[in-house]
Amino acid sequence: MRVTILGSGFAVPSPNRAQTGILVETGKNRVLIDCGAGVLQRMAQAGNDITGITHVLFTHHHLDHDGEFMSLLKAMWLKGKRELMVLGPSETEEWLTKLMDAYPYMKGRLDLDITCLEDASQVSVGGAHLEARRNKHALDGLAYRIQDDKDSVVFSGDTAPCEGVKKLCDKSTDLLIHECSFLDSEGERFPDHTTPKGLGELVENLPVRRLVLTHFSPASENGIEEMVSVIARYFKGEIIPAEDLMVLEL
Ligand SMILES: [Zn+2]
Repeated sequence: MRVTILGSGFAVPSPNRAQTGILVETGKNRVLIDCGAGVLQRMAQAGNDITGITHVLFTHHHLDHDGEFMSLLKAMWLKGKRELMVLGPSETEEWLTKLMDAYPYMKGRLDLDITCLEDASQVSVGGAHLEARRNKHALDGLAYRIQDDKDSVVFSGDTAPCEGVKKLCDKSTDLLIHECSFLDSEGERFPDHTTPKGLGELVENLPVRRLVLTHFSPASENGIEEMVSVIARYFKGEIIPAEDLMVLEL
């Protein structure tokens, strides 16, 4: 399994970080998790052809996670791609129907196979196993575990520290990608997100090998060293602050 961080940023622009996008390559599958602004360009910079994406998986429908999806569809169509699997929380189908109404010239360009997921959903993505768990955010969202015959990755989505991520990591997990949007000093203002202390307490006893921090706000970007040192008091595995275009081989 190969994981590429396409975007490690937040909803407001950063010169160094696109909004959320993670590419998970497992077997013949290319699963794009979330598609915020900047992800298409990052795909090109990473040398990944967008027509190779087999599945797009949404954690939730805030704009910094889905805002570039219609642009992705248009680009895929222009490059001759004709079908795509789309998975996400329960509102995904209605969201996409409304988008197609707003951009009628895109209707029917690709054959979209849409699957709406809920807490504890388990489905196959190609040969890999996908498990969804409800996380804890302003808008209903899902965290995911993707497991193939060798490796596993969990992505928290946007969330406060939650039971859903714990459940997904209750067995040996190679890589947990968890949002760490804010410093502890900012945490009370943003209860729908995670700060280093909360993340440290969450992962302290989980069987996770490597922890990737992502979804940095501009303020937290300047405090990443501090974040890592706080989490390291709890978590003894490797802690990796995400950067755009970072590739993690599992
Ligand atoms: Zn977000």
